[in-house]
Amino acid sequence: MKLQPFFITFFAAACLFAQEHSHTSSRAITFPDVPNYTTLKTDLHQHTVFSDGNVWPTIRVMEALRDNLDVISLTEHLEYQPHSADIPHPDRNRSFQLALEEAKNHDLLIVHGSEITRGAPMGHNNAIFIEDANKLLNEKAEPVFAEAKKQGGFIFWNHPAWYAQSPKGTPILSDFQKERIKNGELHGIEVINTGDYAEESLALALENNLTILGTSDIHGLIDWDYVEKGHDRPITLVFAKERSEAALKEALFAGRTVAVFNSLLVGKEENLMPLLKACILIEEARYIDKTSILKVTLKNVSSSDLIFENQMPYTFYSSSPVFTVPAEGTKTLQIKTLEEVQSLTLSLKALGAYIAPKEHPAVEWEIEIRVE
Ligand SMILES: [Zn+2]
Ligand SMILES: [Zn+2]
Repeated sequence: MKLQPFFITFFAAACLFAQEHSHTSSRAITFPDVPNYTTLKTDLHQHTVFSDGNVWPTIRVMEALRDNLDVISLTEHLEYQPHSADIPHPDRNRSFQLALEEAKNHDLLIVHGSEITRGAPMGHNNAIFIEDANKLLNEKAEPVFAEAKKQGGFIFWNHPAWYAQSPKGTPILSDFQKERIKNGELHGIEVINTGDYAEESLALALENNLTILGTSDIHGLIDWDYVEKGHDRPITLVFAKERSEAALKEALFAGRTVAVFNSLLVGKEENLMPLLKACILIEEARYIDKTSILKVTLKNVSSSDLIFENQMPYTFYSSSPVFTVPAEGTKTLQIKTLEEVQSLTLSLKALGAYIAPKEHPAVEWEIEIRVE
């Protein structure tokens, strides 16, 4: 998003290079697999000094390992290189190559990408899974999209609600984009970019059957821009048939994604429901002695706090009907079932999750109750 010069960053990058880099951290982003699919944690929109970012590509690899990501893409602005006086590398594939080399001995997929950068109404778009970024350099926009498609690219519309290009902060689907969608040259849309979730973008995704994405669009350091502020970077969870680039690509074209930013989860219903269901395990369910109050302990196996509202006919003892199961933590509910039951359908609305503008999914878990 940000197109600004910078001044302090080579010094910062140099300090980091001098240190041994660690791949273990307490801030690992974790999400469970869902039935039939592996959940890949991806950040497919990032910058380095090869466009207007502030770090060398190797740093992006190290950050991704610290965050426990499975896939990243470095998507340099093709047309905007504010550091070209100091880094006059003519090859637009260079950033990808350096990241690939750094990731060689690690369990991290690097996807080749570029950001096609224009003013409104075309705006910025990322093309990933490309073969040669140099061939995307063209003054006219239409041939760039055609070339990206020819290379097998998955193309998504970046930050459609960015106020620098859309002063009301709402995305406008122009004739240009309609034409690209019709031609099979636009496949996805960011509904979360940096810290901005635009529900208008979610509406566009659903109306035009575009894949839903969330990305960090990081220019500085993940630590400074997200972690120090108490956030995880925005990511896209991709539900792939296996952990490979081909499977990732198939899943992105098929639209099997959920965008995540902290406790906010945005996705199509068929993707979000199995994810939420897998995130919560029922650790224990039993009655308090001589009562019909059922204690149910929920364990959240994800790194996002999950916020729920009770949807059952039964009410709770000593707890609000709206509650949070903390990331990697537990929450014990006391459910007043009025008489002892052997099984129960736990029905909760996920208030931090959206399947459409202003619409939360209701998720159900079947619980067998332990008889003393
Ligand atoms: Zn951009
Ligand atoms: Zn960008």
